[in-house]
Amino acid sequence: KINQTQEQSLLAQDDRYLWHSMKPYSPSSTMVVKEAKGAWITDIDGNRYLDGMSGLWCVNVGYGRTELAEAAYEQLKELAYFPLTQSHVPAIKLAEKLNEWLGEDYVIFFSNSGSEANETAFKIARQYHAQRGESNRYKIVSRYRSYHGNTMGSLAATGQAQRKYKYEPLAPGFVHIPPPDTYRMEDAQTGDPMRMRCVKDVDQVMTWELSETIAAMIMEPIITGGGILTPPDSYMGAVSEICKKHGALLIVDEVICGFGRTGKPFGFMNYGVKPDIITMAKGITSAYLPLSATAVKKEIYDQFKGSEEYDYLRHVNTFGGSPASCALALKNLEIMENEKLIERSAEKGAILLSELKSRLSDHPFVGDVRGKGLLIGLELVKNKETKEPIEIDKINGVIAACKKRGLIVGKNGATVAGFNNVLTLSPPLSISDEDLQFIMKTVADSISELK
Ligand code: PMP
Repeated sequence: KINQTQEQSLLAQDDRYLWHSMKPYSPSSTMVVKEAKGAWITDIDGNRYLDGMSGLWCVNVGYGRTELAEAAYEQLKELAYFPLTQSHVPAIKLAEKLNEWLGEDYVIFFSNSGSEANETAFKIARQYHAQRGESNRYKIVSRYRSYHGNTMGSLAATGQAQRKYKYEPLAPGFVHIPPPDTYRMEDAQTGDPMRMRCVKDVDQVMTWELSETIAAMIMEPIITGGGILTPPDSYMGAVSEICKKHGALLIVDEVICGFGRTGKPFGFMNYGVKPDIITMAKGITSAYLPLSATAVKKEIYDQFKGSEEYDYLRHVNTFGGSPASCALALKNLEIMENEKLIERSAEKGAILLSELKSRLSDHPFVGDVRGKGLLIGLELVKNKETKEPIEIDKINGVIAACKKRGLIVGKNGATVAGFNNVLTLSPPLSISDEDLQFIMKTVADSISELK
């Protein structure tokens, strides 16, 4: 039963005072959320919904963890703030812990959002080359359909035309290539890097643009906002080798894929590569407080370390790595370890994926079901032969049908400029077996209503 007593008047106030991002992002965004526990959110009128998207792919340990609130509270009482132009214990401990999770030697620069973490990565990559006497290396290669943030540089890296075209000119020096889309690009299905255009293009574009102008390539292990594009297993390794050949750094955006979402500590670990720079945000604190990080391989950092004052990184962040955010992040990672949430993501994600496939693959409008860990996309099409994306009112209808049954799901894709036809699922990694069954049944029932 849907009760909307208080919500209507609050939504009227909301309409007057709040400027939302991407409204209407989805038909289910017109709600006033009051509280949440585990995987369930409750609106202002007491209606409950299972959050199949963990907010915006963030709340990995689930809502209502008092240990996290306490970790922040205790830290705020002891030391509320000090800039990281000096140091404090929570930042040192968290950077050390992230090294443990990364399994390699990285030096960490903290900021507050995924966008800032990516901006930091671009500046470090450009300056790294300049310090080595290659100041012409400024271009960043990125993929179409990717999303890397909302600031001018991270937006320039983003490969979704619709998000950018009213804000030009963006930061110059960004070059795009096609993404690995195993559903729509037949050569990507071969799994043979020598035959995949999405791999060969990296080499071609870096050659045509001139290797000596390329600073870095940025990629998510799985393109998330562009429609959960799980690449062929060989893709990332092949691209990493091409970057090395052209002297370009590999920046991996783990803003969504990181912290267990794909069933590994970080998404790139599914593909056996060793990135030069790794950016992370969202899941680092399970979104309880803002925090992001740019992890830079020690040998790249060493290029800066001995520099004169004016050659050192000219980049500062007031709130980045605030003590409470770092203390909370440490507690968040401790919960993930104690509750084995990464393993859980791998195991439960595989079950969710195979059940959705077996229930829905034969449906005339379900073109593809894909994902890794608890990160899953269902690509909806009008026609399975032509793969033409389904009409917008139909995908919105599925989202509304899920919401009516008590489940929040997302949509993404950018398959056609600005158009999203991939239904997305990204529940908290702590989700119970019973709630997973609820997701499966609700998604299957809502899709089977499609006419
Ligand atoms: N990179 C990716 C892959 C993202 O999905 C996002 C945000 N959804 C960002 C970067 C930007 O993060 P933020 O919104 O924290 O700036």
